[in-house]
Amino acid sequence: MSKLVGLVGWRGMVGSVLMGRMVAENDFDLIEPVFFSTSNAGAQAPAWAKNETTLQDAYGIEALQRCDIIVTAQGGDYTSAVFPKLRAVGWRGHWIDAASTLRMNSDAVIVLDPVNLPVIKNALSRGGNNWIGGNCTVSCMLMGVGALYKAGLVEWMSTQTYQAASGGGAQHMRELLTQYGTLYAEVKELLDDPGSAILEIDRKVIAKQRALTEAETAHFGVPLGGSLIPWIDKDLGLGKSRDEPGWGQSKEEWKGMAETNKILGLGEGFGSSPIAVDGFCVRIGAMRCHSQALTFKLKKDVPLADIEAMIAADNAWVKVVPNTRQASIKDLTPVAVTGSMTIPVGRMRKLAMGPEYLGAFTIGDQLLWGAAEPLRRMLRLLLQA
Ligand code: NAP
Repeated sequence: MSKLVGLVGWRGMVGSVLMGRMVAENDFDLIEPVFFSTSNAGAQAPAWAKNETTLQDAYGIEALQRCDIIVTAQGGDYTSAVFPKLRAVGWRGHWIDAASTLRMNSDAVIVLDPVNLPVIKNALSRGGNNWIGGNCTVSCMLMGVGALYKAGLVEWMSTQTYQAASGGGAQHMRELLTQYGTLYAEVKELLDDPGSAILEIDRKVIAKQRALTEAETAHFGVPLGGSLIPWIDKDLGLGKSRDEPGWGQSKEEWKGMAETNKILGLGEGFGSSPIAVDGFCVRIGAMRCHSQALTFKLKKDVPLADIEAMIAADNAWVKVVPNTRQASIKDLTPVAVTGSMTIPVGRMRKLAMGPEYLGAFTIGDQLLWGAAEPLRRMLRLLLQA
């Protein structure tokens, strides 16, 4: 008999992408889905339903308890509200989650099987049942350059990110586009006149950006259209040492080192030293895809051609982009990568600091490898187990 799989958060942004991938890979053929809702219980379940045709209450512990596996892309508040109650009533099923809430718990595995299948299998054999998707930027980075970590070549890595508006959710994308529209409308007449002065256009745009109302910046808090925001997620304040959350990092920056190591099975909890990962996370006015410029200090001087070959051979989705202007501007942009499972890695070159210093630039669609895909692949692993 097919396993009963509860689906929560299926109509949100991550959830919609997840449903699309599950349909594309015929996952629904292998399960009996039960669709849940936090807002519309009792209504008709979506078209992929089989026998369970009514939306169940996502806060209803009894209905959730029936499921062998629950996959949620509903968000952290939902996980905090429901997960402890469900375990407290003795539910032993598998919980697969896109939210960060449980990620660093000692009994949770961050799932990214092309990178950490051994970590997942080890936890499965020990009865693990909490499977959490990683931070989108970290997952996309490891899909691209995981080979260098697996080969034990990385002494440290610094990452500077360029993260899309959609990382915040659907409302953030709408706000960005509305801001672009508002700025365009402000100078449309001047743009239509080829003789108008560019500094006049510039002055009007900056004046409008600075005059955007609270409602026009409700989600990002400040203008993003035509600007950038050098802070993502919470302010962790100043910890007493670099080992504590804080140290002037944003929470998104803190996740870089904590999650990279946990995914790889390194650092605290695995009896080994963590690899240092740090840098700055920046929100930019792209719609979708997180991009990042990486600086590696390698443990030894490895020829660039060997590094490229190692990265290219690591998994079926990574693609090495030649370090030329033409290839980089064509293949290494959010516009090229959006909606694609491919993780391009390019701009690879040795840096001026010395032969052990490697630079690279990589991009991933954060809704695919950064969110939906590791969850549905974990579901598949459980169905095969
Ligand atoms: P989202 O788009 O805001 O969706 C979350 C929930 O909002 C939906 O499941 C839905 O629940 C409800 N909702 C209310 N109005 C809606 C509407 N008009 N359209 C669709 N849904 C609506 O959130 P998300 O960006 O998918 O994020 C979900 C989780 O994944 C979060 O924990 C997030 O941190 C994580 N995540 C996000 C990304 C990303 O790039 N966005 C990447 C990795 C992980 P009901 O159907 O129950 O009403």
